[in-house]
Amino acid sequence: MPAYKRILLKLSGEALMGEDSYGINRGTIVRMVREVQEITNLGCQVAVVIGGGNIFRGVAGGSVGMDRATADYMGMLATVMNSLALADTMRQEGMTARVMSAISIEQVVEPYVRPKALQYLEEGKIVVFAAGTGNPFFTTDTAAALRGAEVGAEVVLKATKVDGVYSADPNKDPTATRYSTIAFDEAIARNLQVMDATAFALCRDQKLPIRVFSINKPGALKRVVLGEDEGTLVHV
Ligand code: UDP
Repeated sequence: MPAYKRILLKLSGEALMGEDSYGINRGTIVRMVREVQEITNLGCQVAVVIGGGNIFRGVAGGSVGMDRATADYMGMLATVMNSLALADTMRQEGMTARVMSAISIEQVVEPYVRPKALQYLEEGKIVVFAAGTGNPFFTTDTAAALRGAEVGAEVVLKATKVDGVYSADPNKDPTATRYSTIAFDEAIARNLQVMDATAFALCRDQKLPIRVFSINKPGALKRVVLGEDEGTLVHV
């Protein structure tokens, strides 16, 4: 039995790169989709927010010198590309996914309409939320918190390169230890970076727990959904 009926999974764009330095790695996206399939097979309803950092990020690299809002719109469009790739891979693997965009690009994807998203989830379809929040100066972490709250997800699952929240940067400090659980307030008091500040505040206000876990650890997503001790749970 899954521990959650409905989850919001946040994947960073970089998670799709695998060992590559840019773009979408085929083997990696297929592996990720199969992990999502395992949890839908458990009966868990899945909404996904995917980032765009593997293609374009408004605050970095190729955007230097650009008008910030324009760069951010490019970043949002990058998330649409990733969402299409993800949904198409899901289709190839025999799953039913719907992409809903926060920016209208109606020839390509349907717009985000909350009741429709809820209907798809009830029908067992995977909903991929594209174009972040639809606003510049935000991130897809914030989109994950926002959509998670809107669709009544019981938890935001943040898949990252590290397998949880640590007391210090585990790459720099060998004494760093992983928290199994931590309260929002303690994470703030200890200045621990879980999600960006806006996303974090939104989850805290809405009492929406966050679980941080490793995207590179096979089976981790399933263990999280089964309620096993995996990664770090940030709770109220
Ligand atoms: N972005 C935005 N508003 C949003 C979500 C994303 O402007 O609501 C832009 C922003 O430029 C961001 C880029 O899209 O850098 C890609 O998203 P993000 O950096 O969150 O992707 P990730 O790091 O998860 O791959």
